[in-house]
Amino acid sequence: MKKHNFNAGPAVLPEYAINETVKAIQDFGGLSILSISHRSKDFDAVMDGAVAAAKRLLDIPDDYHVIFLGGGASTQFYVIPYNYLNKKAAYLDTGTWALGGIKEAKLYGEVDVVASSKDKNYSYIPKNYTIPTDADYFEICCNNTIEGTEIRKDMDSPVPLIADMSSDIFSRPVDVSKYAMIFGGAQKNFAPAGVTIVIINDKFMNEAVCRPVPTMADYRVHAKKNSMNNTPPVLPIFTALKTMEWMEAEGGVKEMEKRAIARSTKVYDCLENSKTFYPTVADPEDRSRMNICFRLKEEYADLEADFLELAKERGLVGVKGHRSVGGFRASCYNALPMESVDALIATIHDWDAAH
Ligand SMILES: *Cc1c(COP(=O)(O)O)cnc(C)c1O
Repeated sequence: MKKHNFNAGPAVLPEYAINETVKAIQDFGGLSILSISHRSKDFDAVMDGAVAAAKRLLDIPDDYHVIFLGGGASTQFYVIPYNYLNKKAAYLDTGTWALGGIKEAKLYGEVDVVASSKDKNYSYIPKNYTIPTDADYFEICCNNTIEGTEIRKDMDSPVPLIADMSSDIFSRPVDVSKYAMIFGGAQKNFAPAGVTIVIINDKFMNEAVCRPVPTMADYRVHAKKNSMNNTPPVLPIFTALKTMEWMEAEGGVKEMEKRAIARSTKVYDCLENSKTFYPTVADPEDRSRMNICFRLKEEYADLEADFLELAKERGLVGVKGHRSVGGFRASCYNALPMESVDALIATIHDWDAAH
């Protein structure tokens, strides 16, 4: 049976990227890409190609570096304050992953949480807060993968703006110039697990550092060495390159955004009109296009396991909500075909009709 991949991450990738990866594992210039030196010319071309593709896709200005690192987005949670938190940093508390950054920053200095949506289980994006002008930087999590909210506006900030875009990078055009730094674990929207992308402004990178930094936590080293100070995650970077090639061939991030809007509008409309379900994020402005969270209405709430059973029968994989929040979550990343969205909607319609 055909399966529909709604996994939150690692997640759906384009068939093209997977097929190209299989081929490169079997034959990459006569050897397997798994067994070549990362210092070979062939791999240089992959690394340079990946950096160039990211720059083209997001229209990244010349005074930025694109770096590919190991360690996941979670490692960035401490590397950022280690480098740049001198006295005080500002954070916006929009849920689990935002808190991941806040927790680590507290190890290095004062943390000013400018606003939080904790009062309503992180089901909205806080508005009307003030970013302190004496903060070393302001960090936000653009797409809250677990709670299903998203900030899509490239905001103005009086201090350097840092964004965790792990789960929505490449899903829309971004005005990179508004950010001092963008980072993301690649396993949500453009690669298998194992690689993290960092897009960083050169001036910020070089001038904001506030303490001696160990080599592997030093963005300047990784930028200077073209992400090859040590052995980089060779295979995930190759797949990332192939996914980016696919995005470009399909029409770039403008087209990815169009598709994300089409997919998410369909699913939210279906949930709004459902007899038994509702979307957990009420304000359409705040709803994630990538991770659509929903629940059964109170009178049906004890049927969660039954719906998951039906989803399984229909080949819908990964629709269970994150273990910390429960309910359901349909992750609809760039490579998710509309056919999968339609399968989810048909399942919800059939379920509604039976209840
Ligand atoms: C998944 C996720 C993370 C954690 O990523 P790892 O690569 O597993 O460390 C951080 N932030 C966001 C927004 C995420 O979705």
